[in-house]
Amino acid sequence: MTAEKAFRFVILGGGSAGWITANLFAHHWRGKNVEIQVVESPDIGIIGVGEGSTPQLKAFFDQLNISESLWMPACDATYKIGIRFAGWSHKNGYDSYFHPFPAPLDMHSEPSFIRNAAMRRAGIDVPAHPDSFYLSPHLAAQRSGPHPSDNFPFELSYGYHFDAYKLGDFLRGHAASLGVRHIPMRIEDVIVGDDGNVDALLGEEGQRIDGDFFVDCSGFRAIINEKALGAPYIPFADNLFNNRAVVMPTPPDLDAAGSAAIATGATAMNAGWRWSIPLTQRHGNGYVYSDKYIDPDAAETELRAALDMLDSDVSARHLQMRVGRLADSWSANSLAMGLSQGFIEPLEATAIHIVIATAQQFMAAFDDGEFGPKNRDIFNQRIAARYEGIRDYIVAHYRLNQRGDNDYWRDNAANDHLSDNLKAMMTAWFTGKDMAAEIARLNIGNYYGNISWHCLFAGYGVFPDSRKLRAPLPHEGAADMVKIAHFMAGAARNFGSHKASLDRL
Ligand SMILES: Cc1cc2nc3c(=O)[nH]c(=O)nc-3n(C[C@H](O)[C@H](O)[C@H](O)COP(=O)(O)OP(=O)(O)OC[C@H]3O[C@@H](n4cnc5c(N)ncnc54)[C@H](O)[C@@H]3O)c2cc1C
Repeated sequence: MTAEKAFRFVILGGGSAGWITANLFAHHWRGKNVEIQVVESPDIGIIGVGEGSTPQLKAFFDQLNISESLWMPACDATYKIGIRFAGWSHKNGYDSYFHPFPAPLDMHSEPSFIRNAAMRRAGIDVPAHPDSFYLSPHLAAQRSGPHPSDNFPFELSYGYHFDAYKLGDFLRGHAASLGVRHIPMRIEDVIVGDDGNVDALLGEEGQRIDGDFFVDCSGFRAIINEKALGAPYIPFADNLFNNRAVVMPTPPDLDAAGSAAIATGATAMNAGWRWSIPLTQRHGNGYVYSDKYIDPDAAETELRAALDMLDSDVSARHLQMRVGRLADSWSANSLAMGLSQGFIEPLEATAIHIVIATAQQFMAAFDDGEFGPKNRDIFNQRIAARYEGIRDYIVAHYRLNQRGDNDYWRDNAANDHLSDNLKAMMTAWFTGKDMAAEIARLNIGNYYGNISWHCLFAGYGVFPDSRKLRAPLPHEGAADMVKIAHFMAGAARNFGSHKASLDRL
């Protein structure tokens, strides 16, 4: 960077990926001679789904010093402390389980969970359903907010549910306050120079937008990195079958005291699953499915029936999904972010998480590389590993399903297109190995840790047949479930309602 000429970032796309990136770049390089422009086509619009987050979104807002009271009401947002998976197992006693975000308080009961799960894997009849060992399912059942009273010094880890359109509007406004320039324009062409770098984007009336570095946030259209630069795409269709979604809102779903749910619902359906996302002004629903097993009309009917909306004239939106990733997120002088970079279906709501993580790793790599490609290869390897690590955990939900009631679920359970890491994790569980040690050996703990893997296996009831279990012996140290239940009930009393948490914003 010279002192005279600003370094020009051009971001193509104004969906969540584009505006999150613009805000992070503008914040990170504030005070530097850097210029950021976001070009977006008003007539193409954004995908407009993607309404559940991980705690990474909280970290994002914290980093930008944007308070919850500023952005949450503007985006109809609610708190999220985890996901309830229902119907993924037909095993007796395992019809649903909660996947919590990790919280410091869990360290009190977590060792008991790991221990009991290990005993049950070894054929000993002790309780090992994850819900009994975590506070979040208790709070979710009573629709508590995530903030405890002042005399209970244990914070929960949480993310959010939000309206994707409103989030985009909010982030655009905030980016403008950081000096980001917004150019409403449809891009028709990408000019690539002889050196293989992108020189400029060309608008529909021949307008030219030059830049030093480009960020492709053009969604599934993947205009710069894949189409113009020819970055190879790696589909995940062999191990993730779902390729469509049908989406439909319902009125807000509040309990008698006015609280919305504080968890995402992920309920298994005939050929996929449906999400249930509580917002303050409406409820978001979507059925993610494979059109090899059900056609779009039948999927819409199944969703309407599940929502008791068969007679409603509320229209449904049908979407196609491309599931896979670019081999390299960063090619030449362009970084792909968001749906143009890759997408691992929305089961654990990880897409925005990956956008934020990619932006953060990129900013660090770009700084270290003095605004050049020095760190490109290592950056690309890290991002690819993140995709693979998250993909494996999502694939495990399908591969381990305990349903077997139709071809969709049977084919998923029989799917042998598994990575070596996922095979190793499954072998470790079935052979009674220490899962934490296996995660460390495979170096995958940055994506999903021991608790997430335990919740998945144990939540599905992947244990020896209950008829073959033997009673525990006193010296084997099974968890004292009465004590744990007492602890959970006591801890849960320290949290007010979800409504109260939202009202204080
Ligand atoms: C069914 C489904 C459910 C999802 N659920 C979740 C979830 O719960 N949690 C989560 O984190 N993520 C989820 N996602 C992913 C999430 O929606 C996206 O990661 C996120 O919205 C980012 O999208 P994007 O900005 O990459 O693309 P888009 O929102 O599609 O934005 C693309 C932008 O590029 C612009 N553009 C495209 N072509 C041109 C052109 N030629 N000229 C100018 N501008 C152009 C468009 O106008 C738009 O502004 C879900 C995705 C799907 C499909």
